[in-house]
Amino acid sequence: MKSQIVKSPEYQELASSPLFKLMVNSWMAFNDEYDRDVKKHISPALFDGCSQVLENMVVTPHYLASSCCGLTYEHIPEMKIGDLRTDSLLESYKSQLKDFMKLWIRVKGPLNIVKDVMGEKYMQDNFSGSNHICEVCSKLYNTPEIVEKVKEKYENYINDIIFRFSTEFEIGRLPVKEVL
Ligand code: SF4
Repeated sequence: MKSQIVKSPEYQELASSPLFKLMVNSWMAFNDEYDRDVKKHISPALFDGCSQVLENMVVTPHYLASSCCGLTYEHIPEMKIGDLRTDSLLESYKSQLKDFMKLWIRVKGPLNIVKDVMGEKYMQDNFSGSNHICEVCSKLYNTPEIVEKVKEKYENYINDIIFRFSTEFEIGRLPVKEVL
């Protein structure tokens, strides 16, 4: 598919712009067709912070702005960050900096948040076999018992996450400095 795209005249025209970059993201289906890890293994990569949030945004064909990769746009209402018919792209982007969950996900990743607020056993029992970080993120936002614990405990993590986020910001590992 990628090789067909890069040969197309439309791609060739866009590729000459320094503003254009072709990206290949790993996709997953949010239904039972999704192929889970039958060995109930949890990939070590799922314990990383999310490199997409605050780095990428998606604009839908209806001019709506999505935080991060857009994969969970229909599954996590908090990922809907603006309507570009009325909101600017920059303001939509900056609105994310007021959302502590996005900073937390950026710094520690959704699976570590689950582990922090629910404990290791809950995480193992409920997330074994997951192999896509966005599936974990969707469960983080959409599982009532996890949401309840996040609301109960998030204040305990504010100092740590703001410190880590600020450090990444200061050493230039976050893109936000360029737009603020
Ligand atoms: S892990 Fe969450 S914040 Fe990161 S790309 Fe997936 S849905 Fe977006």
